[in-house]
Amino acid sequence: INIIEIKGLKKSYEEGQITALNGIDLEIKEGEFVSIIGPSGSGKSTLLNMIGALDNPDEGSISVAGTDLTRSEDLSKFRSDEIGFVFQLHNLIPNLTVFENVQIPLIETPLSDGQMEKRALELLKSVNLENKINQKPTKLSGGERQRVAIARALVNHPSIILADEPTGSLDSKTQEIILDLLKDIHKKENVTLIIVTHSPDVATMADRIITVLDGEIKG
Ligand code: ADP
Ligand code: ADP
Repeated sequence: INIIEIKGLKKSYEEGQITALNGIDLEIKEGEFVSIIGPSGSGKSTLLNMIGALDNPDEGSISVAGTDLTRSEDLSKFRSDEIGFVFQLHNLIPNLTVFENVQIPLIETPLSDGQMEKRALELLKSVNLENKINQKPTKLSGGERQRVAIARALVNHPSIILADEPTGSLDSKTQEIILDLLKDIHKKENVTLIIVTHSPDVATMADRIITVLDGEIKG
């Protein structure tokens, strides 16, 4: 069954001067691991942002985890229920601890403080950071920050993880650790994983590689 169905999706910026997506048709199955590759400026991030409902299309239809994103009234709820974001710049909040950062997506859930802490700790253990929970993100290495971002992305049991260049700024050894972690999570949690990447090593790990060129899917 398809967790993502996209038809004729178009998006332009600057009053139509810049075409970011020029008619995307795409179906992704539940539990699939997909990588998206293509040159810089080809529309990869725009596509990922559309799937995560961070940006809205000009034309076409997009349904994600049963929600029609062009019609939904509560995209914020959709995001917090369904999507885990892992972005290159990790979006961690510098004046909160690692432990607090991981709990952010839980704030709007009905969980008690104790339950939130329990869940956050579970995830921080799974990314091997239980010894850093009281640190601020600025005290961590790039790889550690990325592991915090992954823990935070997963804390809410999302059905889809969207990762934009998750290993972009990391050295090759750290890159390997992060990739193993993502692969592991994909296997264990049966989550749908979509990674935008420039790295052929990352791309070939996926079940399927999607190439975006000039706002269109080529193969
Ligand atoms: P990629 O992720 O493949 O590098 P993007 O999706 O970021 O490509 O960008 C696709 C095109 O849309 C590029 O020409 C980019 O400059 C443009 N673009 C993306 N976001 C914006 C924005 N918020 N405002 C204006 N132009 C944008
Ligand atoms: P809204 O502003 O519509 O209320 P939120 O900011 O509450 O939406 O976002 C809902 C979820 O989406 C949060 O869990 C947040 O982590 C995620 N999110 C929103 N914007 C971004 C972004 N630019 N990068 C990464 N995650 C984001």
